[in-house]
Amino acid sequence: MSVIDEALSANATMSNDYDPGRGKPPAPRIAIVTCADPRLTNIGQMLGLADGDADIIRNFGTVIDDDSVRSLVLSTRLLGSREIMIINHTDCGMLRFTDSEMEDRLRKQTGRAPIAPAKFYSFTDAEANTKEQIQKARSHPWISSDVPVRGFVYDVSTGRLSEVFPDRQTVPG
Ligand SMILES: [Zn+2]
Repeated sequence: MSVIDEALSANATMSNDYDPGRGKPPAPRIAIVTCADPRLTNIGQMLGLADGDADIIRNFGTVIDDDSVRSLVLSTRLLGSREIMIINHTDCGMLRFTDSEMEDRLRKQTGRAPIAPAKFYSFTDAEANTKEQIQKARSHPWISSDVPVRGFVYDVSTGRLSEVFPDRQTVPG
């Protein structure tokens, strides 16, 4: 059985006990950008947040790109989130390759050169990368300066967060 078929079968059972209260419109208080890594799936729980408290925006490598900015703008401007957390993590898969290695690999596997310049946002230092993502979110004109943007590295072996502070010159004002 495929994983999707297993999931469909599980869903048919699980939905029997579904609490209809969970279908109410949410009122998020915070937007969190984090990695798509499965070890980050329960990050809301690790932060003591109820499901309805947080908009969790995930992509590989915790990247502030056009798409996560789109979600951050909607979360803070439309849905009511008042703070932004950027949560990178230790042992991220994005530390294990470089963009050019990935491009070479894809060229070999597919026999095709990239049609558009792809960027995978691999990185070598989670803390430095987090600083860069804070800076990108902080400098976006549609993300209000009234909304705090703070960055963290989550240690997957302890479940603890360490805050990453932007370099002094990157702090606005
Ligand atoms: Zn990751």
